[in-house]
Amino acid sequence: MQAVPHRPRLLVVDDQPANVQALYQALSDEHQILVATSGEQALALARDKRPDLILLDIVMEGLDGLEVCRRLKADEATQAIPVIFVTGLSGEADEAHGLEIGAVDFITKPIHPAVVRARVRTHLVLKQQSDLLRTLALVDALTGVPNRRFFDEQLAADWRRALRDGHSIALVMIDVDVFKRYNDHYGHQAGDHALQRVARSVGAGLARPGDRLARYGGEEFACILPDTDTAGALEVAQRLGRAVHDLGIEHVHSAIDGVLTISLGVAAITPTPGDEPAELLRRADEQLYEAKRLGRGRACAAGIAGEALATRY
Ligand code: GH3
Ligand code: MG
Ligand code: MG
Repeated sequence: MQAVPHRPRLLVVDDQPANVQALYQALSDEHQILVATSGEQALALARDKRPDLILLDIVMEGLDGLEVCRRLKADEATQAIPVIFVTGLSGEADEAHGLEIGAVDFITKPIHPAVVRARVRTHLVLKQQSDLLRTLALVDALTGVPNRRFFDEQLAADWRRALRDGHSIALVMIDVDVFKRYNDHYGHQAGDHALQRVARSVGAGLARPGDRLARYGGEEFACILPDTDTAGALEVAQRLGRAVHDLGIEHVHSAIDGVLTISLGVAAITPTPGDEPAELLRRADEQLYEAKRLGRGRACAAGIAGEALATRY
């Protein structure tokens, strides 16, 4: 079987010290063990410490294991952590219920150390594989930046946050200028290499930890800028455009300065209920089109009154 990560972190949740002790003895050689003695504590630790797997007692004072599991699965921050119920209860109904609310397995008490170790190991390997698959599914193979699927998920999540907090969210849509002629002149491989350099440069130009770059399509990229208004996003867009220009990638058919450039379309919205992220995309796209129309190698944004703010970078 495939190796599991070095000393994975397990969260053991049980209100009986003897049960905690038994699991600790079975697992502490190969795993780092966190302990919670109540459901509330388990939820807090799961959020803060992001364990690789949770061993969860069902019958506890206060929040019981089933409720803890339900809440873990309802929270984006903890829903991917596998949960194994460790329980004195037996019977198919309990198992079925536990599995229905998202547990991956059941272990009955009294525990058999070798069985517990084997099951924990199996689920850690499965978790590692699903994490890897998920990562691969969200990364663009050519440029190594997040792909369109990631972008859609991230935009939806950032949009919900902006709606909840009453903040502005901005989008910068980017399209490489006259890129067809770049490929025609320098070859497709050189084109691929140029896209890699553009992606790296744009990625490095994003300053805040919450800013996200994705490859949106062929020679198109998109940046999500949470908590950013139009003026702020336009400043970022100018910086990104300048950075790509300053790479100095020769392009004899370029619209500007004989080097490869990008056009950028900027839009920002403070979402209200009923608004859709698609509207933000539409506006940013409109501004990108405007930047192309005005001659490429520039950033455009819609001002407060809808007037176009076009800037050379
Ligand atoms: P504009 O300034 O109006 O954007 O002109 P353009 O030539 O960039 O626009 P167009 O959409 O006509 O051409 C896009 C080109 O991008 C065509 C396509 O071959 C190229 N392209 C898209 N994806 C890739 C890729 O992964 N690698 C390479 N090398 N080229 C790509
Ligand atoms: Mg294009
Ligand atoms: Mg283009």
